[in-house]
Amino acid sequence: MNLHEYQAKELFARYGLPVLPGQVAQTPEEARDIAAALGGTVVIKAQVLVGGRGKAGGVKLAHGPDEAYDRARDILALTIKGLPVRKVLVARAAEIARELYLAILLDRSRKLPLIMLSAAGGVDIEEVARTAPHRIVRRHIPLEGLRPYQARALLKPLFREGSQLTQAADILMKLWRAYSEGDCSLAEINPLAVTPEGKVLALDAKVILDDNADVRHREWEIWRDPDEETLGQRVAREKGLSYVKLDGDIGCVVNGAGLAMATMDLIKHYGGEPANFLDIGGSSNPEKVTAALRIITGESRVRAILFNIFGGITRCDDVANGIVQSLKQSPLPIPLVIRLTGTNEEQARKILSENGLSATTSMDEGVRAVIAKAQEVTA
Ligand code: GDP
Ligand code: MN
Repeated sequence: MNLHEYQAKELFARYGLPVLPGQVAQTPEEARDIAAALGGTVVIKAQVLVGGRGKAGGVKLAHGPDEAYDRARDILALTIKGLPVRKVLVARAAEIARELYLAILLDRSRKLPLIMLSAAGGVDIEEVARTAPHRIVRRHIPLEGLRPYQARALLKPLFREGSQLTQAADILMKLWRAYSEGDCSLAEINPLAVTPEGKVLALDAKVILDDNADVRHREWEIWRDPDEETLGQRVAREKGLSYVKLDGDIGCVVNGAGLAMATMDLIKHYGGEPANFLDIGGSSNPEKVTAALRIITGESRVRAILFNIFGGITRCDDVANGIVQSLKQSPLPIPLVIRLTGTNEEQARKILSENGLSATTSMDEGVRAVIAKAQEVTA
């Protein structure tokens, strides 16, 4: 789950990171009131889940409540990279002498957290990586964690001044705690700003939470933004299905993550493109099957659907019942191919044929059939 900046700053504040006070507003009036309460110069920032808001006109300074009203009105009317701005953060502004970049993220290839640090902050880090990769320092965090002396040594070349180095090292240690205890897969500060008086501040915050850890973070629920979640993601989460949308046109409903991967591989092998990864799990009650079909048919690119069920704990007759019930509720606008084999296969076949459906036992056949159907629809 991606957090909005104002949410990420809430998380950072819990770990003692230096963020400036602010509040989120949905109207220019609210922005004006917040600015009045904060006093002084404020910064108005679009809360959309994309980077580069500054360049797109989504970050503006305002001197006083009336200007805050005007800037908030302008920014709330924007659409940034396709996302309409529904909220703005109104925060106390800082003066900036230097902008750096500091992040901790999961390096999946090395299976370790990685610190990324650059003196070229404030701009898009992907841009720096492309044009000046030598300006980014990378350091993995070992399994035993990050030690204060390591943080200090890493930051020393970028912070010559003692007090700033101490602040920066403290920030990195706190960022590490926020990342590890907070179960993030990314915790990024860009810019990590130094003020003319030598204070080091986190002026922007970007956090991705690791959804695999949501069972131990009840507090994440209030951060979930229904506007940012697609219908498919929401239904999948509510019904406990693992679902990842992909770019192809063949919808897949499969039981078990391994079989789901194998199904996608075989579709690709025969020249098709899967539209999704969807694992309905071990027990497949009809409700899950219905939810799965609802998710997949909600994706406009899907041209044909493949059920691939290997009945072990999952009973094929349960799935067959689920399919039949679901089709009775809402008939499918696109072709459906069913492959099932294993526990209660015979009963399943009977249920399907009584309802005018058929199934193959061969995965190979099923995959080739669904690709052919999808092509027929296209042609
Ligand atoms: P992003 O473009 O989406 O990454 O949004 P940021 O929050 O990083 O803001 C973009 C740029 O706006 C920063 O790099 C700063 O240069 C500027 N900015 C953000 N907050 C402040 C602030 O409090 N004071 C000043 N002077 N500039 C700011
Ligand atoms: Mn930024």
